[in-house]
Amino acid sequence: MPADEFVVTPYEVRGKVDYDRLRELFGTQELSAELLARLRSLAGGELHPLLSRGIYYSHRDLAPLLEAHAAGAPFFVYSGRGPSGPLHLSHLAQFDLCRWFQERLHVPMYIQITDDEKFWSRAGLTREETLRWGLENLYDILALGFEPKRTHVFFDSRSIAALYPLAIRVARKITYSSVKAVFGLEPSANIGWIFYTALQTVPCFWPSWAEGKTVRCLIPCGIDQDPHFRLTRDIAEGLGYPKPALLHSRMIPGLLGEAAMSTTGSSEDSALFLNDPPKTVERKVRNAFTGGRASVEEQRRLGANPEICSIWALWRSRFADSDEQLARLTADCRSGALLCGDCKGQLLERIHAFYRTHAERREKAKEWAESAIVTEAPRPV
Ligand code: SF4
Repeated sequence: MPADEFVVTPYEVRGKVDYDRLRELFGTQELSAELLARLRSLAGGELHPLLSRGIYYSHRDLAPLLEAHAAGAPFFVYSGRGPSGPLHLSHLAQFDLCRWFQERLHVPMYIQITDDEKFWSRAGLTREETLRWGLENLYDILALGFEPKRTHVFFDSRSIAALYPLAIRVARKITYSSVKAVFGLEPSANIGWIFYTALQTVPCFWPSWAEGKTVRCLIPCGIDQDPHFRLTRDIAEGLGYPKPALLHSRMIPGLLGEAAMSTTGSSEDSALFLNDPPKTVERKVRNAFTGGRASVEEQRRLGANPEICSIWALWRSRFADSDEQLARLTADCRSGALLCGDCKGQLLERIHAFYRTHAERREKAKEWAESAIVTEAPRPV
């Protein structure tokens, strides 16, 4: 693949991604300074670091959703997880932002655990595994600090009675050819995988259906997931619901220099999993790809390149305490005042502290996770 080419689909991210070009290719809108200022004001004067540091950079229809919210109209945030194994750090970006919306704008959160989809799409996984990982992943997500009263979970195989009445209506609006065009399914794809698009669409409309009034939907996600929701947006108004709004993030790069931290087709060492023991975390970080120079002397003299560094990406996405601290670290990296070994050591202290706190919060989340799972439809359709 030529150096300036890249591939971004819901199932693959490859090459050196030009995010501005990708936004143009996908036809999404830029997350402008003006729109961020509007969001900051609605959120009480601060932005989440994922917004202020430019990791979320694109959107669809965020402006009308915020306008409606300012005028008193309700909305909710929605995100999901296909449970094929443990979560890694980059999976948290979408849920971090949802939690922030819940805390700042007091909105409900809907989480979908697609244990059915992962069984249909991953031939190597058993039902027992997708069910087990579904629960394990759910505990990790809830541990980020969601409020029990405002958080609802569709665990697909266990919530099917709640989802199916609306899925029937949704499925009639989605054609096989549109699913095939968006996801590139082969003729050998099983029919579960094809139907799953309907189930993934249902949560976008479910609160409006349940409450009998318009409740808009906002979906923070990696920009690679945008195609999933194009189909949903295409059929929304035909069913009498507003199109869901989307907020798109860049990918968090893999530790070995890949375009995205991922487990599909990558080495396990490219991602920091939430169940990695401290020694494994240490090894992965120490071996991670950086923008450093070949020798200490050279780095002191010429400085390093944070833009290509997987360690800098972790500081930027989660571990820098403030935008000012990130700016200082970036300047020290560029000038050669900071060396990669020291930078990794400082980052490791923060990662270990985060994992310890997360483990405690995860235990607490187990106490209420079951009660958040939605099992009944509000009414038949
Ligand atoms: S100093 Fe830190 S941010 Fe800069 S290249 Fe080295 S590891 Fe990356």
